[in-house]
Amino acid sequence: MNLDNARILVVGAGLMGAGIAQVAAQAGHAVALFDTRAGAADAAKAKLATTLEGLAAKGKLTADAVAATLARITPVAALQPADLVIEAIVENLDIKRALFAELEALLADDAIIATNTSSISVTALARGMKRPERLVGMHFFNPVPLMKLVEVVSGLGTDSHVAQAIATLAARWGKTPVHTRSTPGFIVNRIARPYYAEALMLLQDQAATPERIDACLRAAGFRMGPCELMDLIGHDTNFAVTNSVFAANFFDRRFTPSLVQQELVDAGYLGRKTGRGFYRYP
Ligand code: NAD
Repeated sequence: MNLDNARILVVGAGLMGAGIAQVAAQAGHAVALFDTRAGAADAAKAKLATTLEGLAAKGKLTADAVAATLARITPVAALQPADLVIEAIVENLDIKRALFAELEALLADDAIIATNTSSISVTALARGMKRPERLVGMHFFNPVPLMKLVEVVSGLGTDSHVAQAIATLAARWGKTPVHTRSTPGFIVNRIARPYYAEALMLLQDQAATPERIDACLRAAGFRMGPCELMDLIGHDTNFAVTNSVFAANFFDRRFTPSLVQQELVDAGYLGRKTGRGFYRYP
């Protein structure tokens, strides 16, 4: 399985899908970008154009590289065949399963489906698929163009050749692939849950403000504090991940979701992407 020249379909043009499309196009792939939200794929491409042109203005990219990258990304109005589909839609088991059923109806038998899920069991996602062996986790981190780590996640039925092909591809894209079996939260999100949870408990106890918590953790050597990081990730996504890890650990109290975060989600204060989370963004 060689994905060097794979035609790629990225499904979901939000925070992660847009970044994945960028990285894939910069590596030379033809990328189709699809989102069910009207105009989202076009908007993601337009935003990327602004970002890349900004980098060109600073001399970090050539104008030719910018034009070539953008020319490789095609926003599309419907799902379409590809050699590799990378799914980056909402963190919801049923919605992802429904998408995979739709995809399998139009993909060739040897096409691979990679899911960027942060926490949902790859084994569970593959249930009901005609070819569960072709589903693998390809878990990028935010922001995709900057973060090197990619967790390659095998469910019970994942073909090891599929996982290997995805790891090879990620390495070719300049990433650092790390293989893991599908367990709740995989590696990073399992370790990160208590990091967010303790910050949320401090807020609930009114022991410190988000500013103070973030300042402390930065001073302790972390690149970002937990509150600003949750704002970057998006509270809807982060809350969905916490709920999924909580359920997957048989409701172990260590992973209990937070009312503080529930309130932010209820209010629509989802973080950077909506202009307001713990902090306000212009
Ligand atoms: P997002 O809300 O920014 O984007 C999700 C996009 O998917 C939206 O544009 C939405 O319209 C679209 N969508 C929803 N259902 C769809 C469907 N059936 N078909 C096509 N498009 C659909 O979310 P995100 O932060 O990009 O997260 C996407 C996935 O990546 C989730 O599974 C999330 O857990 C995972 N992830 C997120 C982060 C992060 O930091 N935000 C990091 C790693 C992984």
